[in-house]
Amino acid sequence: MEKGSSNRPHVLIFPLPAQGHVNSMLKLAELLCLSGLFVTFVNSEHNHERLVRFTDLQVRFSKYQGFQFKTVPDGLPVEHQRTGDGTSEFVLESAIEIGIPVIHFRTVSACSYWSYFCIPDMIKAGELPIKGMETFLRCRDLPSFCRADDTSDLYLQQMTNCTRQTLRARGLILNTFEDLEGPILSQIRRRVSNVYSIGPLHEHLRKKLIEQKHQTHQSSNSLWEVDRSCMSWLDKQPSKSVLYVSFGSIAVTTKEQFLEFWHGLVDSKKRFLWVMRADSVAKIDGEAEDYPPELVEGTKERGFIVEWTPQEEVLAHEAVGGFFTHSGWNSTLESIVAGVPMICWPYFADQQINSRFVGEVWKLGLDMKDVCDRKVVEKMVNDLMEDNREEFVRSAAKMAELARNSVSKGGSSNHNLNCLIEDIRLMIG
Ligand code: UDP
Repeated sequence: MEKGSSNRPHVLIFPLPAQGHVNSMLKLAELLCLSGLFVTFVNSEHNHERLVRFTDLQVRFSKYQGFQFKTVPDGLPVEHQRTGDGTSEFVLESAIEIGIPVIHFRTVSACSYWSYFCIPDMIKAGELPIKGMETFLRCRDLPSFCRADDTSDLYLQQMTNCTRQTLRARGLILNTFEDLEGPILSQIRRRVSNVYSIGPLHEHLRKKLIEQKHQTHQSSNSLWEVDRSCMSWLDKQPSKSVLYVSFGSIAVTTKEQFLEFWHGLVDSKKRFLWVMRADSVAKIDGEAEDYPPELVEGTKERGFIVEWTPQEEVLAHEAVGGFFTHSGWNSTLESIVAGVPMICWPYFADQQINSRFVGEVWKLGLDMKDVCDRKVVEKMVNDLMEDNREEFVRSAAKMAELARNSVSKGGSSNHNLNCLIEDIRLMIG
């Protein structure tokens, strides 16, 4: 952060080059612009080219005089798959070196941030590598990298170090809200100063755009081409009858897992809309793709498959009654705001802990953790969509209201965003 040429505070935003990070950081960028700050957003060349191709991003941001995109190469060959995640501690190091104040924005939930933060303490206490301790958080609920056999595991080390780096920053932004994660935010605040919980960012941005009489947009920040045919399919389905199935932008299932999901969905006899990216299922060389005819038939009757959806719009659609998700944090928040209960099949990293909170703490759905069996899928789909639907819908509706209140005037996230803007001005002032 520094003073911009217009004498306005200038914020440089540097996301990891992954869909979930780019998406939520662009929303933060837009919120800062709406508050009168000057923002430079740094994308990898590869991602920027995709965003320009698949979204109206440039038009959307052109209305802000204090906004610019910059790009940097990611150093990977063009044909590289670019799956997976990473950390970017070099940004913090460089900023500190040249005397620019840094605020960490971690795009994960407060509960997973806190579990990452506690890893060094768990190692010291001999609880990692996992020995079998079972408290409220079971071993399988810890972030996936805690499953490493050795605490010197590279990924475990990276995630731990990068989380503790917050202590060197001037503050921590989290995409969450007090009514959802208040007790954990209090724990974090004992160790980290200036914690700004300002989420759910997508709803916060929508509210601010309305307040400032800008055109609202279903803010697509997609790195994939959105296929809108699913919206007309949804229009033809009865109210709350469709289970939306998506495992986000990174998860890859084995062929066996994919077939278990598919059988479970078809056997549940419920309608489903399934996002299947071209790289969603691990390919086995030379294998013929002749799928069981009952699956193909069942899908024709009650299902619809697309490569990429406008997810926020899908979740808000009247026909959608449940979300079968990998518990990525953006997806979880989008489902919470839409008041849609979830079945969780966490894939990696923070998702294991998010799904535990969805099931056990917030009572917003069911946690299928580490199980991938057609009978379980069928049962959970029926539980969520029919047998135990009422209780899930009740808690989902309550949480959706709290989420919306938090970003309204007088709400906690609204207040915290004002504090953040004020503190940025003071830091640079
Ligand atoms: N998403 C989307 N269309 C899809 C699937 C996902 O727009 O068909 C968006 C979704 O709305 C969310 C993001 O991709 O904002 C995925 O982020 P998340 O943190 O849930 O999971 P990740 O992809 O990082 O595992």
